[in-house]
Amino acid sequence: TKFTELGLAEPVLRAVSEEGYDTPTPIQGKSIPAVLNGQDVVGIAQTGTGKTAAFVLPLLSRLLEENKQAPGRSCRALIMAPTRELASQIDASIAAYGRYTGLTHAVIFGGVKAGGQIRALARGLDILVATPGRLLDHVDSGKARLDLTSTVILDEADQMLDLGFMPAIRRILSAVGKPRQTVMYSATMPPPIRKLADDFLSRPVTVSV
Ligand code: AMP
Repeated sequence: TKFTELGLAEPVLRAVSEEGYDTPTPIQGKSIPAVLNGQDVVGIAQTGTGKTAAFVLPLLSRLLEENKQAPGRSCRALIMAPTRELASQIDASIAAYGRYTGLTHAVIFGGVKAGGQIRALARGLDILVATPGRLLDHVDSGKARLDLTSTVILDEADQMLDLGFMPAIRRILSAVGKPRQTVMYSATMPPPIRKLADDFLSRPVTVSV
């Protein structure tokens, strides 16, 4: 399979081609069609397998084809990641793969002043990348609204569990409106992650490599 056969939007394919990617990795080959299709997905994959592009490419493609305005104080899609480093890497991948899409994005995490994050949220975003603790602060203060968010992606869910983020993630997911598409990647599937998928995903397809 080539990237051109997966049904991705042309501006996304152009960026992928400029990155020098020709063939999807196994997790990309399995995830991209399911995410493009709007299905809920549980992806079992380690870092280094190309899982970032496995969810970012179809997300960009879907947001582009829906062609909606970013809602003020909110985001169309939310990606949660365990650490500021990973969140920043995902945001950089969105900038690279999304450079011909015109979609807006920002990253928020704890340990820095909230002013810039609040201004970005107030304008409204296509894609927000966030660590759960700081995002929950913004949800509780009303600076972030998730009722119009229609896609949520959890990356490295088992790491978020280990860092104690499960209560925050559950509260955040409960604040997201429905219907929504929910996608989760994890290297392992301990019982609390299985339970999270049971409680918040709807008839997910499982993809693993
Ligand atoms: P990740 O597992 O998402 O951290 O990606 C691991 C590395 O693989 C990153 O440096 C990507 O730039 C690279 N990569 C992702 N997908 C592909 C692909 N289809 N072909 C070649 N390199 C890729």
